[in-house]
Amino acid sequence: MTDDTTKTDRPASPFPSLAIDFGDAGSAPGLTPGSAAVATPPGGLSIVSSPLAIVSDEPAAGGGAVASFSPGAPRETTLLIVGSGPAGLTAAIYAARADLAPIVLAGSAAGGQLMLTSDVENYPGFPDGIQGPDLMTAMRAQAERFGATLIDVDIDRVDLSRRPFRLWARGIEYRAQAVIVATGASAMWLGLESEERLRGRGVSACATCDGFFFRDLEIAVVGGGDTALEEATYLTRFASKVHLLHRRDQFRGSRIMVDRAIEHPKIEIHYNTAVEEVLGESHVTGLRLRDTATDELREMPAEGLFIAIGHRPNTDAFRDWLEVDAKGYLVVHDETGSKIDGVFIAGDVHDHRYRQAVTAAGDGCKAAIDAERWLEAQGLTGPGAVAGATGGGSGAMGGGSGATGSPASRS
Ligand code: NAP
Repeated sequence: MTDDTTKTDRPASPFPSLAIDFGDAGSAPGLTPGSAAVATPPGGLSIVSSPLAIVSDEPAAGGGAVASFSPGAPRETTLLIVGSGPAGLTAAIYAARADLAPIVLAGSAAGGQLMLTSDVENYPGFPDGIQGPDLMTAMRAQAERFGATLIDVDIDRVDLSRRPFRLWARGIEYRAQAVIVATGASAMWLGLESEERLRGRGVSACATCDGFFFRDLEIAVVGGGDTALEEATYLTRFASKVHLLHRRDQFRGSRIMVDRAIEHPKIEIHYNTAVEEVLGESHVTGLRLRDTATDELREMPAEGLFIAIGHRPNTDAFRDWLEVDAKGYLVVHDETGSKIDGVFIAGDVHDHRYRQAVTAAGDGCKAAIDAERWLEAQGLTGPGAVAGATGGGSGAMGGGSGATGSPASRS
């Protein structure tokens, strides 16, 4: 997901209900604290929903079934989707077109990892590439057009012991006959105290968000996978020099990305190198490094540190209910199923092998089709299917054109 164009401006949040919160950390070198977003310090970026965006009860422009809510009552629908990356939103598109009126609990950082990505060059259909946030905006609009209701909240807890399944977010209870878990994965950190202290003060996990702030500065990237190689290459657009620090003597990333980094005149590779400490008081000034072969310590000047060491699946709320593997990812049965009938799984929350936008989208499609077929087999599709609906829950199924056959599989 790289290209050669020089990008100097940060994309505005494409999610209209979202504000981008860069934290209150001190300034990046040469920048004024508290000034415009473009001059905010590196790292510490989070995307937060505005209160106005908590619930969208507006009917979707394209008609079809629409989830509707009454104040104070549990919110009920046939299908609840948790997560709004490519997996969740593709599931929402398919489920909405199947008249399941899905509610998507999109997360406070709605849009998933592609919201923090710049050039996506390997998603089919975009010969010139597309910006990650633009792709997610289009997916969201497509889901909403067919009647999906997106709510930008994180879930607090779930109860999958019986149907309707119950999930809580910001104190509001949601009930659904089927659930698709598409919560994705999040960036990992080294776990150093100094890394945490200087996060947003030169330490970042998102090159595309923060690279802009390191123009003509010397910086470092940690990691040996495709993400680290990609971020190091991307950061050469801004930095005067990029030190790529890898703890082993062989990269894990793909050959083409390794070659690109090795050949880049601005990238210096340091094998067998671990970060022991990030140096600096108010912002990053250097790194204390350890040679992993000899244990020798040395210091290196650097004004930024990008952590690119992989991702952790977002499974916290589901761990007590669903199976997780040794790496903490959810275990799927028969493509998208889980050990609980009616609970389906899609995307990076279970997939540590491919982890691509296009595979996550394909997974979301499969999960929606499987959920729709399962609901139909249970007699839970069609008007009035939301059992025990309270306060407008049955309205979730109203207004649709009626599910016949397997509409989720229509293209
Ligand atoms: P990854 O492949 O798991 O690599 C993580 C790297 O970080 C490894 O080199 C690992 O070192 C290192 N690491 C892990 N923990 C560390 C620690 N505590 N301290 C220092 N180093 C640490 O993760 P990824 O690079 O994020 O890639 C994930 C998946 O996405 C891969 O399948 C990748 O191909 C894909 N991806 C593709 C693209 C693309 O095609 N454009 C871009 C990005 C990612 P070891 O090698 O020693 O374990």
